[in-house]
Amino acid sequence: MSEKPEHFIIDGKRLDGRRRDELRPIKIELSPLDRADGSCYLEWGRNKVVAAVYGPRELHPRHRQNMTGAVVQCRYNMASFSVDERIRPGPSRRSVEISKVIRQAFEHVVFTKFFPKTAIDIYIEVLRADAGTRTAGINAASLALADAGIPMRGLVSACAVGKVDGEIVLDLMKEEDNFGDADVPVAMTSDNRITLLQMDGRMTTEEFYKALELAKTGCTTVYELQRQALVEKYDNEYQAEGGLDE
Ligand code: ADP
Repeated sequence: MSEKPEHFIIDGKRLDGRRRDELRPIKIELSPLDRADGSCYLEWGRNKVVAAVYGPRELHPRHRQNMTGAVVQCRYNMASFSVDERIRPGPSRRSVEISKVIRQAFEHVVFTKFFPKTAIDIYIEVLRADAGTRTAGINAASLALADAGIPMRGLVSACAVGKVDGEIVLDLMKEEDNFGDADVPVAMTSDNRITLLQMDGRMTTEEFYKALELAKTGCTTVYELQRQALVEKYDNEYQAEGGLDE
């Protein structure tokens, strides 16, 4: 693990040159996996994640089926090669926790009631990690769900906010996440309904509300990129099919 930097903000710029309210660059590719019902590859700064969605499909074993709606399941996994030191393969306390909070971030957004007795499976694989992998995973999973045609109240968009050098900043990179004062991952729908909110570290109440406002602006930017990716893909498919001439 790298050393704790002496300062995180120098002359108003962060270690990677960003302003306090600036996101790392985001790149989105929809449907990279033709065997999944929906998929998305997303790069966020130096994070690389892929999300795949299967379903709705009959849930097995049957005693786990819900007669009144689909069961949303999620597995978040970090590849062994995603960080500097090889991670032991298989579930860890951290990955089990992250899988659970990501599932909860989608459970009330997906219209599960349309698909009783089924499962909707979300798989998130982190290929390269550089802080913010759960939020990157949520953004990719949200698009993979839309790509699979699963009806939802809206897209879920996520980003982290935090505190470094006593200042509130948007979208922590690894040094800020590991050595900063606080890390607050947030996910919300486009009408600002929060579906995930966690906090590691300490902030005053005032700082927390300031951080939440910053998270809202970050999520709005992410939402626009997600929407644009969906529009581009379906626009291209529509044109390829001959557009209005068909
Ligand atoms: P998130 O990736 O959602 O920010 P954490 O705050 O738990 O989740 O992790 C921050 C970062 O720390 C990760 O993105 C990754 O770069 C690094 N990290 C997490 N777990 C490990 C691990 N077991 N080994 C090495 N680095 C890790």
